[in-house]
Amino acid sequence: MKTLIKNAHVISPGVDLRKANVVIERGRIKAVTSEPVAGPFGTVVDAKGKYVVPGFIDVHLHGACGYDVCDEDRPEAIEKIAEAKLAEGCTTFLPTTLTVANKTLVAAAKHLAAYQKNQRFAKAPGLHLEGPFINPSCCGAQNPAFVRKPDIKEVLKIAKIAPVLQVSYAPEMKGGAEFAAACIKNGIVPSCGHTGATLAQLMPAYKNGLRHMTHFCNQMTKLHHREIGMVGAGFLIDDLDTEVICDRIHLCDDMLRLVFTKRPLAHVQMITDSLRCSHLPDGYAFEMGGLKVMLKGGEARLVEGGNLAGSTLWMNKGLKNIHEVTGLPLKDIIRVTSWNQAIGLGLGKKLGKVEKGYIADLAVLDPKTFDVSAVFLDGELRTRE
Ligand SMILES: [Zn+2]
Repeated sequence: MKTLIKNAHVISPGVDLRKANVVIERGRIKAVTSEPVAGPFGTVVDAKGKYVVPGFIDVHLHGACGYDVCDEDRPEAIEKIAEAKLAEGCTTFLPTTLTVANKTLVAAAKHLAAYQKNQRFAKAPGLHLEGPFINPSCCGAQNPAFVRKPDIKEVLKIAKIAPVLQVSYAPEMKGGAEFAAACIKNGIVPSCGHTGATLAQLMPAYKNGLRHMTHFCNQMTKLHHREIGMVGAGFLIDDLDTEVICDRIHLCDDMLRLVFTKRPLAHVQMITDSLRCSHLPDGYAFEMGGLKVMLKGGEARLVEGGNLAGSTLWMNKGLKNIHEVTGLPLKDIIRVTSWNQAIGLGLGKKLGKVEKGYIADLAVLDPKTFDVSAVFLDGELRTRE
């Protein structure tokens, strides 16, 4: 039976269509039109003029609701996180691990494999390994005790348990360029992150196909006028897909404006990098990779040293932030919350747009608050006011 979303304000890459009808059949979008549509419909949802956007895709997040992807002894962690993500309007995500021991990564892969058998909430097609192959001097909130050199064999062993779709690592480390090539050969996105590389040190990995930057500006070499570093590389090289944490804490508003006005929007991906304290109130304290973190004033920082440890951001709020800070039209910026990520994962022809033929993963947002009032997952209505 078909589903109709009527009176929708459809926002999709290049599209801003009011009073639209969105027809869904067998999990796919059948039509997006301002013309009348013929029934019968099993389900009719009146969007009441709210935004209907592509379900968000978050390629970088560690946890929510007190759960972390790396919780070895809590196999339910990924499902709990997936449930929280769905409430943000996020329909696909990559559970992201920390720089931890191999046995912890193996446990995370097993938990993901178990969740993949019956994905009840947001879909999790594979892991994003953030580390452990990072530069020990750019750890941020990652634990230096677990840092090791790039090792594709370790990655492939984990990938036998559950798919690994992205690895964030420091390309300047020994074997960094070869590691990028090996990742690509195995269908994994290599991403430079937690890196002290110069532009010259990045280039061998870039030549081998690396096109992704983990949380652009955070934990990477800054721009200097005689060595432009990784931040400079992000502005110089258009086709690097730069992850951006849009919580207005990790990057100030002026840097967000720089990124969104000077970089091609086709190569920007909003991420949350959210931690287990996401969806929880202020004052929550926890351990992350063996380091103590405290949530205070909406900021999650290491108790010792005060480094930012990640965010509490939700995808829908990140989109609101970008819209407010940059003033750019939603039809232009909407690609940074879904479609760009889908393209990066090789899914750009079926995910990330509100368009005929695309999978009906959709979020309905209040135009003022961007609060999520409904989510469609594979065409099925999942949450409602
Ligand atoms: Zn992270």
